Order: sequence, then structure tokens, then C-alpha cells
Amino acid sequence: MEIIHVSAECYPYAKAGGLGDVVGALPKYQNKLGHIAKVVIPMYNTKFLHENEFDVVHKGGFGMAHYWFNYTVIKEATNVLGFDLYLIDIFNLLDREKIYGYDDDIERFTAFQIAVVDWISKWEHKPDVVHVHDHQAALIPFMMQNCVAYRNLSSLPTVLTIHNAQYQGWMDWNKSSYLPEWDKWKWGLLEWNKTINSLASGVRCASKVTTVSPGYLNELKYNANGLEMLFEYEKGKCVGILNGIDEEVWDPATDTYIETQYSVEDADEGKALNKKILCDQFGLDEKKPLIIFIGRLVGEKAADLLPQAISDSLYYINGGMNFLILGSGDPSVEYQLQQLNGKFMGYYNSQIGYNEKLAHQMYAGADFLLMPSRVEPCGLNQMYAMRYGTIPIVRRTGGLNDTVKDIGEKDGYGICFNQATVGDITNSVYRAVQLYSQKKNITNIRKQIMQIDFSWENSAGKYLGIYQTI
Ligand code: ADP
Repeated sequence: MEIIHVSAECYPYAKAGGLGDVVGALPKYQNKLGHIAKVVIPMYNTKFLHENEFDVVHKGGFGMAHYWFNYTVIKEATNVLGFDLYLIDIFNLLDREKIYGYDDDIERFTAFQIAVVDWISKWEHKPDVVHVHDHQAALIPFMMQNCVAYRNLSSLPTVLTIHNAQYQGWMDWNKSSYLPEWDKWKWGLLEWNKTINSLASGVRCASKVTTVSPGYLNELKYNANGLEMLFEYEKGKCVGILNGIDEEVWDPATDTYIETQYSVEDADEGKALNKKILCDQFGLDEKKPLIIFIGRLVGEKAADLLPQAISDSLYYINGGMNFLILGSGDPSVEYQLQQLNGKFMGYYNSQIGYNEKLAHQMYAGADFLLMPSRVEPCGLNQMYAMRYGTIPIVRRTGGLNDTVKDIGEKDGYGICFNQATVGDITNSVYRAVQLYSQKKNITNIRKQIMQIDFSWENSAGKYLGIYQTI
């Protein structure tokens, strides 16, 4: 089977979060299973672009509103990623340093999607499936089926994977002229709640829709940022498939980002050495449990609760612990977290920003990873943490609920709580501190979680099963 994945992110070329990790791994595993999986994303101005060679494979152009855009498709020349990576270059529109966060993101990603559809329509043979990811690619099924110029794609099967339904690519109706000439009586396929809603359109038009965990699919029926009814109507075509992790990238035995590699057999020693280096670097106390948070500092991740929960924990919990935070996002949360640096020197530190290497070092050196998320479609951090023997402390939601079992249950290996509140977080931190004092238990749990199979093989096979049905 030949599959083309369309996305805004793909690790290691461009990553802002879990979407990049998944699109950088799933195609590799689909290829290993004997299929041809390719990826196309926008050409951003990143380090990877300048460090690798690319060949031009296609040049084309299209009109969007009153403007004409020329685009070039380039392909990574050496197959360094384990799959063919194609980049769409549109001068002055896509070739920026960041992936998202510009005022004209709607124009940028609409143009990207038109270019992808235009390019695929020119292929001599057609792919078996067009697999689009999140709202930045979710207008593609509509365009393939309803745009006059692309009728030759109308019967190709499409899959939409939803990594995060909070962001939906809303567009005012006055931007409907951005789309290439389309059958106007089909406007209902674009609209949700009086605006064009890219994600809703993708859910309606794709042959199948997947979410990145089964638990998240259930949650979307009552918590989908306004699309709850749509997920209820379309439940027949929706399937939840848990993400895997790329065990070639995330393996403490081979990880070159970390100071001391380790595996299940020498997990305690390996972790202790990595913890010491991390604690020395950030002025923390290596004798106390180290709890980390890595992620976007936004409401979905309940990052706004961290400053109070950390302060309360450090004030009130006897025995003490350390916290180390890595993330960026809401400026007021960033500010509050930085303010704590001076207040709790020796037990707390925070790094504001994005740092892939430090993230690996933190998974390796920490004892616990905290994820109090309000919404967590799958969550990769808890799986990476477990692979590195770091015990997850998670709120029971979405993929966190699907992957972590509380130590109070039979064969449990994590700490789970129900509410995204300061009280539930501090109570869980208390449980973590208690657990840390039972050295034997910690060693056993560490070995247990490092051996849980979160590999992609299983999930990649499930996606192939979905393609076969369409
Ligand atoms: P998201 O909702 O952000 O996609 P996931 O848990 O699915 O959350 O994936 C998060 C990914 O992004 C993980 O690989 C995590 O290590 C990484 N990540 C998030 N924030 C940072 C950061 N500030 N620095 C380095 N890596 C980060």
C-alpha cells in the first residue's frame, strides 16, 4: 500500500509537540511493515533544512483569493529518516523560523493544503490513501472531493487523525474564496457554528477518522471544544488508536543526549548518575525525589496550577522534594514559574523555552514526571518517562488514563488522580514522596515500567487495518 501523510510537523525536521513525534515515527514503522509511507509538510526555515540535501521534484502554482502562489516540492535526498520526506516551499509564506504563531497562519496552512492537493493531482499514479493530521491538513478531504480542478482525486480514500481537537482551524466565511473553485452547494461540509471549521470539515469528509487514544475518542463526545455533537453523529467512522513511541529515538540504552546510558539491569545506577548531573546543573538536592514537568505551559496541560501546587508542596510536605520544569507558553505562567526560582533555590528550578536535549536528560534523571492535564489526547511524555524508568504522576484523562495504572491497583505502577486541582496535585506529590522512601518498591516499579511495550509496531498495524477497510 502507498500512503502519503500530510502534516504541519514531522520530527526531526519540525516539531512543536506530539504531532511531530508521531508523524516522524508512524511512517517509518509502516515502511518496516513492507508498505510505502511518505510524508509531506511545509518547508520551514529550520536547522534540518540547512544540514541536509534536497532534490526538487515538482514545481507548480495556484490562485488563492486575488493572489497567485508558485510552489516547489523538494524531497530529502538520502532517506535519512526511514521514509521519503517532501517539503512544500512557498516563498515568503511557509519559509519561516517557527511552525505556528503568525497572524497569517490561516493563509499559510490553506496555501500549504492547496499546494499538496495540486501536487498529488499531478502524480501519474495515485497513492492508496491520503492520511491527513490535525486541522492544518483537515481541509484536504473536502478539497479532493469538491474542488473542480481536483476531480481526479475525488474517489481516493482519506484518513484524518486528530491529535488535538482543541484547535480546529476556524476561518471566517469571507475567506471561503481562498479555496480553489468548489461546488458551492456543499457549503454545509465546511461549516460548524457559522464559521468554516477545518477540523469539522475533515471529520465529515474523511473516509475514516482516528484519535490518538481510545479514551480520548470517548471524551470527545462530551468535551470537544464545541464539536461534541459532530463526534456523536460520526461515531461510526471514528476509531481510537493509541500512539506508540519511537524506540530508536527514545531508548536510555542508546540515547546520545544523556550522559550515562542505562537499561533495565542497571536502571538504579544509571538513573542515579543522570540525576546527579541534572541536580548539579540546576542546583537541586540529589538526595530528594526529583519531580519534573515538560510541556507546553497552557491551560490544557493545567500548567496554570503548577506555581501554586509546587509552592504548597514545598511548604507543607514533610521530607521534601525537588521540582524541575521545562516548557514555554502562557507568558503569565512562564513568569510565575520563573519567580519561584529565587524563592525555592536548592529545591526548584525552571527552564523556559524548548530544548530537546534537556528533555531527554530530564526523562533520564528524574524520579517522577507530573502531568496534571485537563485534556490529554494521548500524551507521549508519560510513555517516554516510563521507558526511562521515571514514574508518571497523571490526572486520569484521555491517553493518560489508557496508559497509567495507579499503584493502589493490582500491578499498578503510577500515581493517578481525578481532578485538575491544586489539592489533587499536592496530594499526589505527597504519595510520590512516600513511595520514594520505599527503595525496593521504586526499584521494582522502575524495572516494570521500563519493560512496558509502547512500541509502534502494534499501532502501525492497526492503521494499516483501517486503510484496508476503506
Ligand atoms: P502535546 O500536546 O504538546 O503534543 P505530547 O505529550 O503529545 O503533548 O507531546 C509532547 C512532546 O513535546 C514530547 O516529545 C515532549 O518531550 C516534547 N516537549 C514539549 N515541550 C517541550 C520543551 N519545552 N522542550 C523540549 N521538548 C518538549
